[in-house]
Amino acid sequence: MIVATREVPGETVSPTPPRMLSVDDALQRILDAFGPLPVEHRPLGEALSYVLAADVVAGSAVPAFPNSAMDGFAVRAADTSGATPGHPVPLRVIAEAAAGYPCAATVRPGTAVRIMTGAPIPAGADAVVRFEETDEVFGTTRHGIGAVVAIHRATSEGDNVRPVGEDVQAGATVLHAGARIRPAEIGVLAALNCTQAPVHRRPRVGILATGDEIVDPGEPLAAGQIRNSNAPMLAAMVTRVGGEPVSLGIARDCTGELRHALAKAAGLDLLLTTGGVSVGDYDLVKQVLQREGQIDVWSVRIKPGKPLAFGWLDQTSLLGLPGNPVAAAVAFEQFARPAIRTMLGDRNLSLPTVMARLTGSVENRGGRRHFVRVAVSSTPDGYEARVAGCQGSGVLSTLARANGLLVISETTAAVNDGDLVPVQMLDWDLG
Ligand code: AMP
Ligand code: MG
Repeated sequence: MIVATREVPGETVSPTPPRMLSVDDALQRILDAFGPLPVEHRPLGEALSYVLAADVVAGSAVPAFPNSAMDGFAVRAADTSGATPGHPVPLRVIAEAAAGYPCAATVRPGTAVRIMTGAPIPAGADAVVRFEETDEVFGTTRHGIGAVVAIHRATSEGDNVRPVGEDVQAGATVLHAGARIRPAEIGVLAALNCTQAPVHRRPRVGILATGDEIVDPGEPLAAGQIRNSNAPMLAAMVTRVGGEPVSLGIARDCTGELRHALAKAAGLDLLLTTGGVSVGDYDLVKQVLQREGQIDVWSVRIKPGKPLAFGWLDQTSLLGLPGNPVAAAVAFEQFARPAIRTMLGDRNLSLPTVMARLTGSVENRGGRRHFVRVAVSSTPDGYEARVAGCQGSGVLSTLARANGLLVISETTAAVNDGDLVPVQMLDWDLG
């Protein structure tokens, strides 16, 4: 029978206690180590969620030619002076203009061109009268050239005409470096005839779970073992913030496996590990990290979670997240997410925060910044935040029931029913 034995840490364990840091200090130290990654050009179809690396200046105006905003008749506004339903002005229809087909005719006094939305405004015309304000009853060929249209409304120059540059003037800076590319930005780039967007390269983020007890979903589970929930969750979080997750699997708590796994991080922009950095545990992870790279282990004044490792393995930055799944998720949102967004070129690093009326009460002893899982909903009286359930750092199901993190400051001992509290929104699905 083989009896699994645990490797005991050697004498190189640092005897000094980990440095205590506030959330803000820890974040600042981490962010100091990151900057935007090199620029590349991505086809529009692949540019979503990247960040623009340069201003976008319009090479030409949008629209490039004056065109109709309505289906109706292109006219000379002066011709329609005094027109009312009781005293319509008759105009002779001389041509039709459809979108995509410039009309060769010139609108002279007493004439009109039947025009569709988006069609270029014909020469001579300066306004469009909507079909609803006309009546084509006088002609021999109804709905056609040669008909006479009765105009029921006096129009002014420019009515229902989209002028050149209404959307974008030639030479204008339409999008600014640092803008997140959303569908609207992709539409604007397409309108400006850009087939690619200059963006900062997406960071490749390795994810390594550690622990003798951790088993991937789908694999057989022995007594005492648990599922690797952290790695798939963190991979999804990396994807959601715009990074490219790279799975490095699970490393057992043994020097050889850990070193082998860490070696696979070469060339990555960031390595996230989970587990093995707790204060006072006898995992080897801390020790191996400190031997293999320049890594500090901190005790951050944050709840859930506290231990956090940060440093470098050669060129790769390493962020050692706690093992408890909710602590890992909260640490990701507070520390890894801003680092990844910085590499992407984003300048707005904080999660969107709303003020919400609290249902429930939560204590906060110990001078830590406490992140509480809450379900935020929108009510006629504003946002309401309901404590999502058990707040144990291993209870992941209540994170799944939450859409926000209520932030209790280090100096606040409790928040109570009815308090107006700040909540970081993880998503906007308000149920
Ligand atoms: P550690 O920091 O390694 O002592 O882990 C703290 C707690 O988190 C323990 O209960 C671990 O079993 C648990 N844990 C560590 N890694 C994972 C993981 N990848 N998925 C789920 N739970 C984990
Ligand atoms: Mg462990």
